[in-house]
Amino acid sequence: MTVVGVVGAGVMGVGVAQNFAQTGHQVVLVDVDKASLEKALTQIERNGRLSRLVGGPAVDVAAMMAAITVDVEVDALAEADVVIENITENWDLKQQLYGSLDRVCPPRTIFVANTSAIPITRIASVTRRPDRVVGVHFMNPVPMKSAVELIPGHHTSPETMHRIREVLGAIGKKAIEVKDSAGFVSNRVLMLTVNEAACLVHEGVADAPTVDEVFRECFGHPMGPLETADLIGVDTILYSVEVLYQSYADSKYRPCPLLKHMTDAGLHGRKTGKGFYSYDEYGRVLPAR
Ligand code: NAD
Repeated sequence: MTVVGVVGAGVMGVGVAQNFAQTGHQVVLVDVDKASLEKALTQIERNGRLSRLVGGPAVDVAAMMAAITVDVEVDALAEADVVIENITENWDLKQQLYGSLDRVCPPRTIFVANTSAIPITRIASVTRRPDRVVGVHFMNPVPMKSAVELIPGHHTSPETMHRIREVLGAIGKKAIEVKDSAGFVSNRVLMLTVNEAACLVHEGVADAPTVDEVFRECFGHPMGPLETADLIGVDTILYSVEVLYQSYADSKYRPCPLLKHMTDAGLHGRKTGKGFYSYDEYGRVLPAR
């Protein structure tokens, strides 16, 4: 059985750990923050129970929970065949973590970076196994999404690509391969759109519900860009736009000041209960007062 290490127990780590555990994999979930691990287990258990109600598969919740162990130390990943990294979108943190993973994990372990925007070749360069580092950009919420972006770095080997396609196949994900470049395909476009949508609110052109209404009613999008920002995490949006801005040195990626303000104020979206909208404990939008 493939032992899957999942590092980072936030929005994405919860979804990735759940998806692997509910499909018969053994999962070791690691986060530096003990409270995040406790919250993650509660969320995974609840997501498993509610899976059918939201259009997902029936989940054996007891078996899924028994397949997950949690730890605050990366040393717990010493037996992992694959490690999927989902920590905060911050280069310094990621650089440090990959150095530690490289020391702890055996040479066979494949490192999967689930970054929004950082190039995979840059991540691989801080390890001694660039041939066994690959990017998989999972979509949120992970168990409900059928496809991922698959990104080989400059040195990623054909064996690593083959193995990771097998791993993704085992959880029912279609892999869409794209070349390595900051933001890949999805976030080069999505982050610009969300950033510009935030600028519309910042400038008072329209409020958030009106911006989203235009996208839903006129374009048929299931969710507008600002509700999407809340789903992803307003802080994660800001960090990703900052990575794009630094990577391309192009003013079109200049982060909207409102994203900075909201991040500083803790208005991170669904995960903190408030962002462009307010949320109940199940992540449902509360009516505006
Ligand atoms: P998040 O803020 O919800 O969670 C990040 C978690 O990482 C936190 O629990 C934090 O305690 C933990 N962490 C930070 N440093 C750590 C370390 N050194 N070791 C272990 N844990 C550490 O963020 P998220 O939304 O889950 O995003 C995680 C990654 O996934 C980011 O790189 C992001 O760009 C990417 N991503 C996010 C989405 C999305 O929709 N949110 C989609 C695809 C990819």
